[in-house]
Amino acid sequence: MNSAVLTTGGALAGRILDVLAEATADTPGVTRIAYGPGERFAHDLVRDAAEKLGAVAGTDAAGNLYLTLKGRDPHLLAIVIGSHLDSVAHGGNFDGAAGVVAGLAVMAELVRHGIRLQRDLIVLATRAEEAVWFPLSYPGSQAALGLLDPEALEAKRSDSGRTLADHMREEGFDPDAVRRGVPGIDAARIAAFIEVHIEQGPRLVAAAAPVGIVTGIAGGFRYVDAKCLGAYAHSGAEPRFARHDAVLGFADLVAALEIEWDALEREGHEATITFGRVQSDPTQHGGSRVLGELGLTLDVRSAEAAILERVEARLRAILEEVGAKRGVTFELGPRFTWDPATMSAALIAKLDRAATELQMEAPHVPSGAGHDAATFAGAGIPTAMLFVRNENGSHNPTEAMEIADLDQAIRLLFRFVTDFDNPLDQP
Ligand SMILES: [Zn+2]
Repeated sequence: MNSAVLTTGGALAGRILDVLAEATADTPGVTRIAYGPGERFAHDLVRDAAEKLGAVAGTDAAGNLYLTLKGRDPHLLAIVIGSHLDSVAHGGNFDGAAGVVAGLAVMAELVRHGIRLQRDLIVLATRAEEAVWFPLSYPGSQAALGLLDPEALEAKRSDSGRTLADHMREEGFDPDAVRRGVPGIDAARIAAFIEVHIEQGPRLVAAAAPVGIVTGIAGGFRYVDAKCLGAYAHSGAEPRFARHDAVLGFADLVAALEIEWDALEREGHEATITFGRVQSDPTQHGGSRVLGELGLTLDVRSAEAAILERVEARLRAILEEVGAKRGVTFELGPRFTWDPATMSAALIAKLDRAATELQMEAPHVPSGAGHDAATFAGAGIPTAMLFVRNENGSHNPTEAMEIADLDQAIRLLFRFVTDFDNPLDQP
């Protein structure tokens, strides 16, 4: 099959993405604020395209959009393909939207081939996935399953200062029903949730593969306001034995955690360890002073819960050792955590088989970033993700996904949904 020639669905996906880029342009890049005009435009656009394909559209109390192509047997559980349509400010056009249009493209392919699936196929466009707008983990998909913590409705949008409930109401939705936990879709009615998303790291580019099958979504923990506390002193007068140098304490911490990271990788585990912000007090620090206090953040991620526990335990031990050696103390401050999400082995096997049949290279890749798929996996729904090769990371205007690569994901997904009830899979 010549991959330079797009499927009908792939061509449709490309056209929708072009319209979206132009309509939500905010130079540089695009801006689609959660519950703002860009997200609204995107929802209207995909609804219109799906209705033209014969899908039935509906929204839930939180404004998530369900586009259903009816299957032959209404008693069978549905296949749901979903992602989000909001973006960060001055973000790229593909983070989120690529996954929704990939679902529409599969519908277009079904229609073109005159195939009616056994099961309902639902394309789900969620709301408010980008945590930059509301400081929450996937409020849209949480609300879709009736799982949103009522307190989350009081979270304030970063640009407007108004609450999530306010913004839902303003867009014509029903935050009171969300508060009562009224779901948009019953988790027990979903056979599989699958999300297509651009890769936000470089693995597929490095592997020269257009599409990857995600093995798991990392969970993690983050200390956003940790400190290494020593004592300020004169750089010339204070002898080494008397020092409580926050910089040396921090350096030892970094080095010891990296040794742990090396060990994890040697044992075949994936994790990331990041000190994203390191700062000293400009009113206190100086070229002729021993630094007495250093502020830092620490972000640790892994798809394996046991690895997160291991790093946390090692961290505690390191802080004790370094504290004793350097005469410093560490204050970790508030700790934020989020759970890893496991992808369904059965769905991964189906995707592997589809890739083999299409003679497509689709390596297994981890996801270091969070996605709506984590909500569905967390609710016990069999969940899978496909990544599409993307050159420059995401959340920036230079995201570089080729439509030809997205088209490969569409082919894979089309094979997956049409082969979903293959008797080979039955136990
Ligand atoms: Zn995204």
